[in-house]
Amino acid sequence: MSRAEELLRSKGLRVTRPRLAVLDVLAAGGHLEVEEITRQVRERLDSVSTQAVYDVLGALSRAGLSRRIEPAGSPARFEARAGDNHHHVVCRGCGDIADIDCAVGSAPCLDPDTAHGFEVDEAEVTFWGLCPTCQARRRADV
Ligand SMILES: [Zn+2]
Ligand SMILES: [Zn+2]
Ligand SMILES: [Zn+2]
Repeated sequence: MSRAEELLRSKGLRVTRPRLAVLDVLAAGGHLEVEEITRQVRERLDSVSTQAVYDVLGALSRAGLSRRIEPAGSPARFEARAGDNHHHVVCRGCGDIADIDCAVGSAPCLDPDTAHGFEVDEAEVTFWGLCPTCQARRRADV
């Protein structure tokens, strides 16, 4: 049994070829737009609609097998790293996204002093800046 198949079964999800293909694409890492995921899934399966990929991503996200992020000004992106409340740093220049681990220790984000009675399950923190490539480009432009 493949790792993707194991993941689906462990969440009680039916094993389908589109689900396996999307998990396979996400397993390579990164934060991918639906368009890119669909392109890569089509390399593995003959025909799959964008809507089908959306449906699969919805099912995987609900099962905790993928995570949807949507930084301001960017289309939704999906990644396989889910459930650890990690954060993201986004480049203002090229839109590149990297993972940042959740601050743990004295002030973990999911443990706010006052949650106003809410049951908190996610702290959405986005760091903005310039990636190394864009920093180098900026220096070269000056
Ligand atoms: Zn950049
Ligand atoms: Zn991430
Ligand atoms: Zn955090």
